[in-house]
Amino acid sequence: MTERPTPAISERTAAFWTGGANGELLIARCQACGWWLHPPLPVCRRCHGRDIRPEAASGHGTVWSFTINRYQWSPSMPPPQVIAEVELAEQPGLRLLTSVVGCDEVTIGMPVRVRFEQAGDAWIPVFGP
Ligand code: ZN
Repeated sequence: MTERPTPAISERTAAFWTGGANGELLIARCQACGWWLHPPLPVCRRCHGRDIRPEAASGHGTVWSFTINRYQWSPSMPPPQVIAEVELAEQPGLRLLTSVVGCDEVTIGMPVRVRFEQAGDAWIPVFGP
C-alpha cells in the first residue's frame, strides 16, 4: 500500500491539492481567454490576464511520457512506481507530473483518467486506465 508524502500546500496550489476531496481535478484557468495553466500562475501566459481561477477539468488525459522508478525513496512507497507526464484532454501541452497506478503496463499515448489518493490534507491526483 502506497502512502504518498503530503505536498506543501500554498494559497495558489490549494485548489489543485484539495479538489480531489470532491472528486474534482481543479486546474487554474484564465477567465479572460480560457487558457488552462499548470502549475498555477498569477498571470496568464497567453494573454497576460490576471483573473485566474481554478476550474474542474474533465480528468481525462493521455500518457505523454513516463519512467519506471525502481528505487525505494520512501518506506511507504514500494517500487516499482510509474512516474509520468500526463497531458490533459483540455489543451495541448497541459501536462501534469504524476503517477500512473492500477495497471501492469503503461504505454505512451495510453488514455488515462484521474483518481485521487489522500495524503494528509491533500488529495493527490494520480491516473489510471
Ligand atoms: Zn489568458
